[in-house]
Amino acid sequence: MADKRDYYEILGVARTATHAQISDAYRKAAIKNHPDKNPGDQAAIRRFKDAAEAFEVLNDAEKRSRYDKFGHAGLGGQSGGGGRHFSDIEDIFEAFGDFFGGGSFGEMFGGGGGGGRGGGRRRPRKGDDLRVDVAIDLIEAARGCKKTIRFERSRKCGDCEGSGAKPGSIAQPCSYCGGRGQVVQQAGILRVQTTCPACRGAGSVVKDPCKSCKGGGYVAEQVAREVAIPGGVDTGMRIRVPGEGQPSPSGGPSGDCYCFLTVREHPLFQREGAHLICRVPIGYTQACLGAEIEVPTLDGRREVKIPAGTQPGDILTLRGCGMPDPHGGRRVGDLHVQLDLEVPKTLAPKQEKLLRELAEVEHTNVSPHRKNFLERLRDYLMPGDDAEQEKAS
Ligand SMILES: [Zn+2]
Ligand SMILES: [Zn+2]
Repeated sequence: MADKRDYYEILGVARTATHAQISDAYRKAAIKNHPDKNPGDQAAIRRFKDAAEAFEVLNDAEKRSRYDKFGHAGLGGQSGGGGRHFSDIEDIFEAFGDFFGGGSFGEMFGGGGGGGRGGGRRRPRKGDDLRVDVAIDLIEAARGCKKTIRFERSRKCGDCEGSGAKPGSIAQPCSYCGGRGQVVQQAGILRVQTTCPACRGAGSVVKDPCKSCKGGGYVAEQVAREVAIPGGVDTGMRIRVPGEGQPSPSGGPSGDCYCFLTVREHPLFQREGAHLICRVPIGYTQACLGAEIEVPTLDGRREVKIPAGTQPGDILTLRGCGMPDPHGGRRVGDLHVQLDLEVPKTLAPKQEKLLRELAEVEHTNVSPHRKNFLERLRDYLMPGDDAEQEKAS
């Protein structure tokens, strides 16, 4: 066929296009021209079919190379060359089902209209899911809690029972599709069943709309539900409340409601996954002599011993005092108590007197650690001066 269009041109890619570019171009063309999105548009169906044919050839290394060398004639076969002739949209889905992720092609468009493939096999669509944001504090997150969530969703209008027609009147069957909600379009050998563009698949049209729902068949409803949040949850997790989403437009199950959790920061505990970190200030004498200090835990205060000679930043780990596992409830996390050395900014006269005495003692009794440091400092400041230093000291 002399009038056959160039496959590269159909997909809008260069002759040097990579496999990925070709796939990408085909995906875009298929989505743009999909029959569900273009009901009754014969030109779109034509483009949809052409793109599939072009892709079938260019996606196959061997066919592509023959096409590159000999054009349409190189592909031989039926009707004077050309790739596979898709006589039905269904064939295209069959051939490239995997390419579209295996699922229903209709799902790529958010399920609009329930999909138009297959002869009258309409699966009722699940209602849309809803999102509710829930903020809880860390203690609630640790122990688990019950929260009442409030949200708005659609409900079938009670006045017209969802028909959208004013009470007393009835919705008329759609004249475009004869009440079936689907229309079959014929383009030569190609038969495509799509959602009726006139009634959007409802099968009926409302002439005299219901006042309560303005003809939509649905009204907004305020819902409050109690949700059990398990202990151990963290920011970013979701709790599914099944069946509490939007109702299905086609008699299927309702969608779900998802609670998106945020766990607020706590003034004392910092969270690291299942572990908690708490910074506790200690005094110089406590660090030197050791002490019994009180630390906060999720279950209240707890006395812990710190050993003599505790260093600033040392960490005491209280096993199993962190967060529980949200799936099992067992305390899997630890509480890490980080000891911060606190230096007083002001001193009482007695404190100052004692510290000065202590300073004198320290001056004469330089600690081994400090002595070691002073030696290294001297080497650093006066390299090669060791001999003289030795004499001088
Ligand atoms: Zn109504
Ligand atoms: Zn219709």
